[in-house]
Amino acid sequence: MDKLEHLLEEKSSVQIVSDFLNQQLKDWPLAGGNYKGLEHLEEKEFQFDGFTIKVQFNPERIRSSTAKVDAKSIQERACFLCLENLPAEQKGIAQGDDFVILVNPFPIIPQHFTIPKKAHVDQAFAENISGMLSLAKSLEGYTLFYNGPKCGASAPDHMHFQAGNKNFMPVDSEYAVLKKSQSELLSDSSKVEMRAFSNYLRKMISIESENQEDMLRAVSIFYSCFAKMQPEEKEPMLNAICSFVEGKYIMHLFPRKLHRPSQYFAKGDDQLLISPASVDFGGVFITPRREDFEKITSDDIVDIFKQVSVDDEFFRKLCASLKENRI
Ligand SMILES: [Zn+2]
Repeated sequence: MDKLEHLLEEKSSVQIVSDFLNQQLKDWPLAGGNYKGLEHLEEKEFQFDGFTIKVQFNPERIRSSTAKVDAKSIQERACFLCLENLPAEQKGIAQGDDFVILVNPFPIIPQHFTIPKKAHVDQAFAENISGMLSLAKSLEGYTLFYNGPKCGASAPDHMHFQAGNKNFMPVDSEYAVLKKSQSELLSDSSKVEMRAFSNYLRKMISIESENQEDMLRAVSIFYSCFAKMQPEEKEPMLNAICSFVEGKYIMHLFPRKLHRPSQYFAKGDDQLLISPASVDFGGVFITPRREDFEKITSDDIVDIFKQVSVDDEFFRKLCASLKENRI
């Protein structure tokens, strides 16, 4: 644990982690080179009805998009999130008792962190909701995200979150606008506000609250309602994006039915190597291959979200169950 520094409370979270990132970029050539490369990445945008989907061409993400996450492949590799396996140049900032903030050496976001648990335990949402809320609060200025073990996590065997600059993902800013016009209110008590978005290409449940305990309860209710509807899964398939903004926790939850769309497995010209995870659900599609970046259309985006998100009927039932169990 001599690698770990402790947070100094008098500095803001943004200042502390920005300084940490800058130091790592100086000391660690791999990370330094990849963050420099990020400045020159090509991006394009598609406009939909009141919201945007960006597409980023990022060749360094090929490892993550094509990560083999079956039990055998996982067992045969050394875990890259266990502290004892980190490269010598990589340092961390301890966060609470359980988590460590690391610089993600293959960034999508200008400041991109991976936040593993110190212990090598499975990627799991339910028992880490309160950890996610605490992290979001202490990392105000950043957005946290969680990829389920079958929803984009490239280390399903080692519990971790990621974090990046707030407002990198369009959902961060679109939410405040869309919730007024395009959402269904599922719960609006003095404690929490829960909304459903069914016309956002992907299905989204958003929860906000000022109080961490109420937030935890509401997110746990979402989890158990959803888990009951996917009994065949060890964990219901989901991505989660969480931030702490102006005294409120905000979490966006994306219930899913599929890990990778048919385009991922197609051959030749029909193939699009896109493996959707939280960042894609937040509104930034990552294409590691130039040909995919160039040929992807808005119809592809609509189709991919349709395949990997739960369908209309399922979502209606989930919303009904959330209304019934609201706090
Ligand atoms: Zn590990």
